[in-house]
Amino acid sequence: MNILCHCEVCRKVSGADYSHACWFNVDDFKIISGEDNLSSYSTSDRFKRFSCSICHAKVFGRMHPNKFFNNGSIAVPPSLYDVEFSRDFREQKHEAHAFYPRRIVDFPNDTTIKYRDMPKKFNGSGVVIQNEELRSKL
Ligand SMILES: [Zn+2]
Repeated sequence: MNILCHCEVCRKVSGADYSHACWFNVDDFKIISGEDNLSSYSTSDRFKRFSCSICHAKVFGRMHPNKFFNNGSIAVPPSLYDVEFSRDFREQKHEAHAFYPRRIVDFPNDTTIKYRDMPKKFNGSGVVIQNEELRSKL
């Protein structure tokens, strides 16, 4: 699932207005080389971030297991990978916004799902914010 995340941690870690990540089942993810060069740190009790120990680029994040993904899920920032891999992700339009109430940029005409935090399958509440609710707060 292609998600734009507006949480404070993603903004601080990325240095951008929001982060873009493709989320999927960890069982569909495999590190084929360079695992010894990864360092990690937790930014919550449910999420661990992995970076390159050499260049310090953010490589991926891992959400702890839950009932939807028994081994956890992975968030991959598409812009850090090979052009062909990134292009495949970029050509897919984002499907949702996460932590939308914490945003610093607005997407008023974007009709994709806007979650209060995260979808349930990625350890969130799954609560969706309606566009009417957003307009009433402006
Ligand atoms: Zn985030």
